[in-house]
Amino acid sequence: MTDFARTRALFEIPEGVIYLDGNSLGPLPVAAKKRVADMLSEEWGKHLIKGWNVSGWMAQPRRVGDRIGKLIGAPEGTVVMGDTLSIKVYQALAAALDLNPDRKVVLSDSGNFPSDLYMAQGLIGSLGRGLELKVVEPEEVEAAIDETVAVLMVTEVDYRTGRLHDMKALTQKAHAAGALAVWDLAHSAGALPVDVYGADADFAVGCTYKYLNGGPGAPAFIYVAPKHAETARPALSGWLGHEAPFAFDLDYRAGQGIDRMRVGTPPVIALTVLDAALDAWEGVSMLDVRAASIGLCDLFIREVEGRCPGLELATTRHGHQRGSQVSFRHPQGYAIMQALIARGVIGDFRAPDAIRFGFTPLYIGEKEVLGAVAILESIMKDGLWDRPEYHRKAAVT
Ligand SMILES: *Cc1c(COP(=O)(O)O)cnc(C)c1O
Repeated sequence: MTDFARTRALFEIPEGVIYLDGNSLGPLPVAAKKRVADMLSEEWGKHLIKGWNVSGWMAQPRRVGDRIGKLIGAPEGTVVMGDTLSIKVYQALAAALDLNPDRKVVLSDSGNFPSDLYMAQGLIGSLGRGLELKVVEPEEVEAAIDETVAVLMVTEVDYRTGRLHDMKALTQKAHAAGALAVWDLAHSAGALPVDVYGADADFAVGCTYKYLNGGPGAPAFIYVAPKHAETARPALSGWLGHEAPFAFDLDYRAGQGIDRMRVGTPPVIALTVLDAALDAWEGVSMLDVRAASIGLCDLFIREVEGRCPGLELATTRHGHQRGSQVSFRHPQGYAIMQALIARGVIGDFRAPDAIRFGFTPLYIGEKEVLGAVAILESIMKDGLWDRPEYHRKAAVT
């Protein structure tokens, strides 16, 4: 059994705060502070540029990638770190489209995160070969997979509703129709068991600042299935994805396997934070995390529905069909969330009307769930959300 009392002590959460937004930005892992301080003074400070060799900075994107790989069912040497998720979406989609050149449709759904759709639109525009982005409702994805589809590009867990796609079944259907599958694991990695290899995903990408607690702007990851490792063409052909970066050739030659998905200089400081954050998963069973997360979400739904009339559940009641988050709809959702945050219950708001709460068993338990519901109940009963300052929109919601 996973010891969640142990994992809870690994994170720094301010006194009086109930943090239900680890699905957007995980909290600070205590160990990261010393690790980064040491890296700065002992590695950068003392070794200067020698750090690339003596401190293993150049190998870090692969080494940390293998640690992420363990959490998403990826074999060693198939995951590499770098850039932001939007960039990794672009790389994965570009490579997948290249592997299926005769088809014209990229299929996605309206529950996908807008940046993924935007990147697809930008890429399609640059390629200029008559490709089309087809966006259907999440429930219609399966039926929309046909012989016109080049690439199925979906996010496993819907960022707004928490709806969970069946990765294995959809990938199988895509393959049967002659399409490739690109999966975005932004709300899956660290939230639930993932098996990219077992599901036969062609490409997978994800970020590490959500459930993996890598800190704001932490580098993203990309997985390339072994069968595509030597054929996937890197659209972003930067020097660190070159076969021999330090040969300084004038012509690009793709590096071996997953290395070709590297682009430029790795963000060593950010990778050091992430590496420390990943220590929290040692001794943690993802099945235990999943069971605990479903229990916490169920409890939250039951309590809110019983005590907070006026909030409409936007997430499925079936635990196995959602990720690790719960959303409720209310026309005044934004103000309600601001009132919650002012009282130390931190979730977030997603337009047009969803208040969203992430449940992360590594540092959240039943006590926090019940505490959050009690505060939400008082806000709803007494209309405490209806104050001018709670209606003022901030840049980040
Ligand atoms: C969070 C998230 C992103 C964010 O992309 P960045 O480039 O890291 O800002 C993209 N896609 C999905 C599905 C997300 O959930």
